[in-house]
Amino acid sequence: MATIGANDPLGMLVTPKSPCRELLAMIPAPLAIFADNQAVFVNAAACALMEAGSEDELLGLPPTAFAHPLDSGIVENRMRDLEEGIAVNGPLALRLITRRGRLRRITVSVARITIGGRPLVVIVSTDDGRRHENFLKKSEEHFQRLFESTQDIYYKTDASGVILKVAPAVRRVLGYEPQEMVGRRVEEFYPHPGERDSLKRALREHGEVQDFEGRTVRRDGVIIDVSISSYALYSPEGEFLGVEGVYRDISDRKNLERKLRRLATLDGLTGIANRRTFLEQASDSLRPVTRHNSCIVLFIADLDHFKMINDRYGHIAGDAVLERFARAVGLELRDRDLFGRLGGEEFGIVLHDTCRADAQRVASRIGESARGLRFAAPDGQEYRVTVSIGATRNHCDDAGIERLLARADRALYAAKEAGRDCIRWMEP
Ligand code: GH3
Ligand code: MG
Ligand code: MG
Repeated sequence: MATIGANDPLGMLVTPKSPCRELLAMIPAPLAIFADNQAVFVNAAACALMEAGSEDELLGLPPTAFAHPLDSGIVENRMRDLEEGIAVNGPLALRLITRRGRLRRITVSVARITIGGRPLVVIVSTDDGRRHENFLKKSEEHFQRLFESTQDIYYKTDASGVILKVAPAVRRVLGYEPQEMVGRRVEEFYPHPGERDSLKRALREHGEVQDFEGRTVRRDGVIIDVSISSYALYSPEGEFLGVEGVYRDISDRKNLERKLRRLATLDGLTGIANRRTFLEQASDSLRPVTRHNSCIVLFIADLDHFKMINDRYGHIAGDAVLERFARAVGLELRDRDLFGRLGGEEFGIVLHDTCRADAQRVASRIGESARGLRFAAPDGQEYRVTVSIGATRNHCDDAGIERLLARADRALYAAKEAGRDCIRWMEP
């Protein structure tokens, strides 16, 4: 406690019943006076604000001891400014911790006065802490209501990615009880642990992410699509504390998008690329090929006398033939080859980096697998199909896929003319 001599001007503050002391005590706003960085006077309102049993609990404490540890730096800076004679600036918003450990938000005005040559610092709370407290309480209640009722999953992790808090919405979306997830790492709920890396990178770079698309795994093992909006939490000293944000289940939208994409790019009957997609992909694969002078081969495969199958066994039987033929051809191709339905019973195939001899072998296998298919006629008889293939290779003069298609078509015509169930080539 600051020592106060007989002639010390502080005597009028500390002497009981001194008129000055009585006057200050009556001020309804919390007020504290500091000398040599120690509280030498606190009024009743300050004791009430600080939830102190008596003024003795507060006297002798430095101003920083009144503030929340996170705000003590702000108080120290303001004290230093005052000592250095820097003009007092506006009121200061502060968090303080009461003697009972309760957090309060207040606004204070700080002034330096000199009485009898002795510098004093006067701190007056210019705002009613309770109003802040009510506001805080209300906003916390509001947050709690949102937290309980939101359709999105609010979550918060610590710096190492361990879940600290997760909203009850997680029950509906992932099938977990919130308390089952708390204490576990977020990565555990990703299809693969590495899938969170891109989100973590974005958070590190930008501090926050909006509508970041990702995937998460439900309790029953089903993977769902989510949109993540999160931000990184930092302490006032800049230390990374964790992540807070929301997950939104967007599986319905993503499934619809996937379905629309499928409808737009795939053939509805066989599930392989439709004409437009096949031609687009074939054109794409032609570009680097011409540049690097490597080979691609184009086949047009057309079922023989297919009309007859429709006529004899009906359109549905014809559809089944198309489906099974497409599946059988798919098995003969590599992943990087292209396969699409050009229309009716006509299919396009692009083989990448394949010489004529190898392509001839692939075509023979396609012909064989078509011949190997068995179909049951309504009368119990079996019928089979054959396929004719027109083949061509690319040439550096081929400006686009149309030139190859035209050649393959002429080759196909030749195969039909030659009696069907065979392969014919048309060289560039
Ligand atoms: P070719 O040996 O000369 O190729 O004779 P083809 O009978 O196979 O050829 P054509 O062009 O005369 O007949 C093709 C038939 O394919 C006619 C058409 O009704 C039928 N078709 C086209 N698309 C479909 C389909 O999606 N499903 C079924 N079942 N038939 C189809
Ligand atoms: Mg045909
Ligand atoms: Mg045809």
